[in-house]
Amino acid sequence: MINSVFENTFVYNYFETFLKSNKRFPQSIVFEGFDTIMQYFFALELFRILNCTGDKTQNCSCTNCNWTKENRHPALINVTPVDFKDDAAKTVISVKQIEKVTSSIVETSNYHRFFIFSNAKLGEVQEKDKNKLLKYSNAGFELNKEEWLPASINKKILQEEASNALLKSTEEAPNKVTFVFLCNNREDIISTIVSRSLVFKTPVSIEKSTTDISSFFKNYPNISIKEGIEKVNAIIDFAENNNIGFIDILDLIEEYFINVLKTNYSNPAFFGLINSDIEKVQMAKKQLMATISPSNVFENLFISISAEGRHL
Ligand SMILES: [Zn+2]
Repeated sequence: MINSVFENTFVYNYFETFLKSNKRFPQSIVFEGFDTIMQYFFALELFRILNCTGDKTQNCSCTNCNWTKENRHPALINVTPVDFKDDAAKTVISVKQIEKVTSSIVETSNYHRFFIFSNAKLGEVQEKDKNKLLKYSNAGFELNKEEWLPASINKKILQEEASNALLKSTEEAPNKVTFVFLCNNREDIISTIVSRSLVFKTPVSIEKSTTDISSFFKNYPNISIKEGIEKVNAIIDFAENNNIGFIDILDLIEEYFINVLKTNYSNPAFFGLINSDIEKVQMAKKQLMATISPSNVFENLFISISAEGRHL
């Protein structure tokens, strides 16, 4: 049912099962992760299936599917600092916008409406992002807006007052209304909204990259410090040659560890060890965001997960 471009992502399996079961669709969803473009198109895909009047397959050409894939469906509403607004403040999602949202959901609609909250990056789309978009345009999707790209929201974009104005709606949304928040991390959104939402981690598309990443961890969990340090430059080259951000690389490493964890559920000692390594990867992400140099971050990481390093 769900477009194959999203296969191999965790969210894919959950929603594929969910959509087949006819359960009431969640009224509020938070996607967290560093591939906001993937999150955006995945939201479009969920919207498409919920509103399809055809066979729901990725090739369906009913009007709803076509409008969705062209990103111009009237029930698919982007709430960003520059979309769905009448006031002049172009740097935030304002309280007035939230009032516009809350008054519009009172009206009934034949469609399952989505309000997608993102930051809109305006300006010429960079090569790196064009490459990301290509994957989805090959799968039949378009953004349909030039020089517009969805980006992660944070507490500067969706501030406390506006968030509070939205709370009641996220909790008691009418049937067939869904709020979707795109962010890097759930901490970018006030906790009262997060607690009223289903939160999904959306990894970067795994596919080939996971295979490549696993080649750096052949001897895991018995990598020596020497071997680990030797990998630092290789992994930095890999990121640069493949145009993958360092945070995304850490996401992939985390994915990889989670997969190792899944295949070792029955071994409690191993389970604890991998769990603690996953925490080290998360720490490395924080270090990167605190602008510590990538070579230092990866070096620290490889040392801390090395066989000798665990005992330091
Ligand atoms: Zn359709």
